[in-house]
Amino acid sequence: MTEKCIFCEIANGRIPSVRVYEDADFIAFMDINPTSDGHLLLITRSHYKTTSEVPDKQLAKALPLAKKLALAAQLGVGSEGYNILINNGPVSGQLVEHWHLHIIPRKDKSEFPMKAGQPADLTKLPFIAASIRDNL
Ligand code: AMP
Ligand code: ZN
Repeated sequence: MTEKCIFCEIANGRIPSVRVYEDADFIAFMDINPTSDGHLLLITRSHYKTTSEVPDKQLAKALPLAKKLALAAQLGVGSEGYNILINNGPVSGQLVEHWHLHIIPRKDKSEFPMKAGQPADLTKLPFIAASIRDNL
């Protein structure tokens, strides 16, 4: 637990949250600045900064739980799809440095526009892939 961590404070109940689910490892609550109706955050009770720090045993529980929450959110708000998103590190857009997974029900593409990529440089792709494989 980190002194100033807002999600640790939510986990221990010192800061209020509107919870939809909790168990021994996880809490899910409403995002206070939602991208869409039903935007949920799933957090670990323990303080981990990014996915890289979360033990595999907990990660293995996280995706089935996210699926259950996403389906409930979809039915709850009447959306047609959803995004599941984890920001890892400030450069990715992570503002709260306590692991969390966003569940964002989607009714409208304009709620969360994804930036289109550029066509890949096919001469570089094999080298980038090799650098990744070397680190597996
Ligand atoms: P990220 O950019 O992935 O770190 O997202 C952090 C998310 O936490 C944002 O969507 C915020 O709206 C949300 N958030 C921050 N503080 C609170 C809070 N006290 N209760 C609920 N959601 C929060
Ligand atoms: Zn924390």
